[in-house]
Amino acid sequence: MKLRVRLRKAAVVCLIAASSALAFVGPSHGAVVAALPSAWSIAVNSAMLPPPEDSPCLEDGRLYVPARAFFSTVAADSIEWRDQSMWVAMGKNSFRIPAGKRFIEVNGIQIGMDAPAIIRNSRMYVPARAIARALGGTMVWDPATKACSVFIPDLKIPQAGAEGILCVSFIDVGQGEAILLDLDDTDLLIDGGPDRTGSKVIQYLKTQGVDDLDLVIATHSHEDHINGLPAVFDAFHVKSYLDNGIPAATSSFRCLESKVSAEGCLRFDEGNQTLRFGALNVEIIETVDQAEDLNDTSVVALVTYGSKRILLAGDAGSAVDQYLTRVGRVDLYKAEHHGSWTGNSAALLSVLQPDFSVICYGAENPFGLPDRKVAGVLREYSGQVLWTAGKSVVITTDGVSMKVQ
Ligand SMILES: [Zn+2]
Repeated sequence: MKLRVRLRKAAVVCLIAASSALAFVGPSHGAVVAALPSAWSIAVNSAMLPPPEDSPCLEDGRLYVPARAFFSTVAADSIEWRDQSMWVAMGKNSFRIPAGKRFIEVNGIQIGMDAPAIIRNSRMYVPARAIARALGGTMVWDPATKACSVFIPDLKIPQAGAEGILCVSFIDVGQGEAILLDLDDTDLLIDGGPDRTGSKVIQYLKTQGVDDLDLVIATHSHEDHINGLPAVFDAFHVKSYLDNGIPAATSSFRCLESKVSAEGCLRFDEGNQTLRFGALNVEIIETVDQAEDLNDTSVVALVTYGSKRILLAGDAGSAVDQYLTRVGRVDLYKAEHHGSWTGNSAALLSVLQPDFSVICYGAENPFGLPDRKVAGVLREYSGQVLWTAGKSVVITTDGVSMKVQ
């Protein structure tokens, strides 16, 4: 049950209805406008563009929007700049938007626009109305409220909280790790961060409308991963639990064990197995049972939703590369051990080739993480590298495409 999410969804549906009927979100919907971010707000099929680094601009009385932000919001698979053009791939379709020309190419066919894409401060801007029309849609905007709404009928944009959308949140818990996977009524939590009150994790889960957890995984017993979990057990009903099977002589571990026992939830062992929660497949990959470094015994989970594959390996390091390379290419990779040099080898990343890599770490941590060389390796082999220092990272997928919220 997710009351808050359902309520939020209802609000989104209203906005879609407003866009599709071309009823502009104007003075009669003042409350909605007031809730929008300051400066220009741009919605594409009701999904808000993230606040762009560069704001929209007016040219000859037309509204121009930053091309990269626009296409990343409409769930483009890739966006490249070459030969004075922006090249966008989206499912089976490809688009080329040449600078200074009054057309765009859709699957190699030229479609005229009444205004050209322009370059300002080395960035491409596209005329919002013309690009919407070229894609078979419409655009309305209002200079007074600084709100722009683009509606393109056939686009399907993954949205957090919507039905059938898996939302993967790498929660900002400072120096530590906590990851929520939320798909409809299925909620999985991997690790609980370093804070014994678990307050950041609990608050985050509550704002997502979580009221019980189908599975909690403790990857290994280090405090930056399990300290917050006992409080999570206090705050939510937990249906099942899995850890690496290695007891620790620490108070945090003992506290967690007592909460797990008191909860009476189902316990899975750490061996090779595929668990199914709703439409999510969680493949637990057995690696080493014993290691000099406890980090290497971290639970490794490969989560699959539709065609999208997400690899989560706690603080494991290169000692388990041989198990992880068997996984092959993945779409989303949670960097091992907070971006430490003990893992994230070029040999591993060259096999994984993720579209997104996420590093979980706290700003100005005393360990100097992430390692600079590792950051370079992640950048070299990943489509995009994101991090939790200062802000939770949220990635959504409908099982077909994947995007950053
Ligand atoms: Zn850690």
